[in-house]
Amino acid sequence: MNPLLEVRDLARHYPVRSAPWRRPATLRAVDGVSLGLPAGRTLGLVGESGCGKSTTARLVLGLLPPTGGEVLFEGQPVPSVRGPRWRALRQRMQMVYQDPLAALDRRLPAQDQVAEPLAIFHRGTAAERRERARAMLASVGLTPALMARYPHELSGGQRQRVVLARALILGPALLVCDEPVSALDVSIQAQVINLLQDLQEQHQLAYLFISHDLKVVRQLSHEVAVMYLGRIVEQCTAQALFSHPAHPYTQALVAAVPSPWRSTRAPRIVLRGEPPNPAAPPAGCAFHSRCAQAMPACRAVRPALREIAPGHAAACHLLAQA
Ligand code: SF4
Repeated sequence: MNPLLEVRDLARHYPVRSAPWRRPATLRAVDGVSLGLPAGRTLGLVGESGCGKSTTARLVLGLLPPTGGEVLFEGQPVPSVRGPRWRALRQRMQMVYQDPLAALDRRLPAQDQVAEPLAIFHRGTAAERRERARAMLASVGLTPALMARYPHELSGGQRQRVVLARALILGPALLVCDEPVSALDVSIQAQVINLLQDLQEQHQLAYLFISHDLKVVRQLSHEVAVMYLGRIVEQCTAQALFSHPAHPYTQALVAAVPSPWRSTRAPRIVLRGEPPNPAAPPAGCAFHSRCAQAMPACRAVRPALREIAPGHAAACHLLAQA
């Protein structure tokens, strides 16, 4: 399957100088990430806060220039400069943010918010744009009575439906969803997840789905990539990840999630300490200071991401020995 989205060795580094007499350091927010996402599929991107998931999302959309690597969308490089080519590509790649109230314009009613991208790209007359916006809002489950309301007059779930309608109005092929349900109540989360699944089927949408909530990722994702300190440490199908996580970090994340995939609940693995400072990562495996299975080699040599089974890659010296 040809990928709709291809990310090759993507990097975003920031120079950091804490004091004038100190040597400048480099914060490696994203460090050599490679991903592929075919049309109509969902790739979950998971990891703790600060691991580089959201920076990866912004790099994919060209909202942030990379310091290395490249992003290809529908076979074309995504420009990091916001010119006409970037604007044309952005119609096919949209973002869904965590906080729908912050993402919406509080001065516009729902139907005008959804019609706005059509006006920006000069599509149709004002009456046609309004008609298309109302049809799109209806397709995400908003009743006609709610379409004239302002964001503060809608519930969290209704606002996220408006955000989705606005993201879909230009006919994108890819939605980059950054924690799209984490600000919602659990019952509303389930409704929005079902809606995302229905929309994917109807529009053949691809989702890059970023979340720290593995329960949600398990429901939606076909493939999952696990990030730790700016790098991918494991990538495989969702089924393989949740039934046979290979990397010790993934095992700890998965063990914390109640799972119908396992017959007995795996013992909880408590991760020691916090993730290291990304501006001063440890030598060798970046996870070694928290890994119960660390060996002397782990402190000296960084493990490469390598295939450990067909379609299943992980970066761990233990797995290289297997
Ligand atoms: Fe743990 Fe070593 Fe594997 Fe890193 S390489 S995850 S420290 S066993």
